[in-house]
Amino acid sequence: MRRPFIAGNWKMNLNITEAKALISGLIPLVKGATNVDIAVCPVALAVPAAVEAAKGTNIKVGGQDLYWEKSGAFTGQISGDMLKSAGCEYVIIGHSERRQFFGETNETVNKKIKAAFLAGLKPIVCVGESLAEREGGKTFDVVKDHVVNSLANIKLPEFNVEDIVIAYEPVWAIGTGKTATKEQAQEVHAYIRKLLTELYGKDLADKLRIQYGGSVKADNIKELMAQPDIDGALVGGASLKADSFAGIVNF
Ligand code: PEP
Repeated sequence: MRRPFIAGNWKMNLNITEAKALISGLIPLVKGATNVDIAVCPVALAVPAAVEAAKGTNIKVGGQDLYWEKSGAFTGQISGDMLKSAGCEYVIIGHSERRQFFGETNETVNKKIKAAFLAGLKPIVCVGESLAEREGGKTFDVVKDHVVNSLANIKLPEFNVEDIVIAYEPVWAIGTGKTATKEQAQEVHAYIRKLLTELYGKDLADKLRIQYGGSVKADNIKELMAQPDIDGALVGGASLKADSFAGIVNF
């Protein structure tokens, strides 16, 4: 039985004061959610404040990206160890906005997943097709390319493969108000589970959590979570308010 996992990707929103306020508001609303893992992913600058605000609660903190080198002359970058030492448990890797605006590729995603593991972080690896790719009938090819190449050479025992979280985020459903139907989402989640089975075997693939992301809200989370291969959600816009995020966590 996979434990549901709901994570909020705050993107470039909420300064330190706002981050603390959101977590303070969220704590009482989600304290009864004992059967679900919860994380928020603030901007790196707000991570320490978020970790402090969430201390002793069921809310974990994640980064939104990392760089694969441990340290050095890489202006503007943040290492896995820096996120870990600030109190992060997770890190989002390969979000479509990073692929689209910052030149992220499967190759850099692969390096970042390895770096996350070496730092003791659990990677949330984002995959998903654009609207043109879906309409061109390429959804499965794109998802396969993202999953297989992002996870190249990531194997036990060197890496804690069981900690990988995959987030299936169809790009056309991110921030657009368009959600994949539960059938569309389940179809791709089942396909990702099949790819993971080919990579890691059935026992391990059955343990890996696959989140759905794309305009998830309190009023559509229930039907998504009822699908056999949907194990949680990566939430953008609706994670920026305590009540809307809590409405998803408490599905
Ligand atoms: C996201 O960017 O990861 C996301 C799913 O955004 P939204 O929920 O706003 O569509």
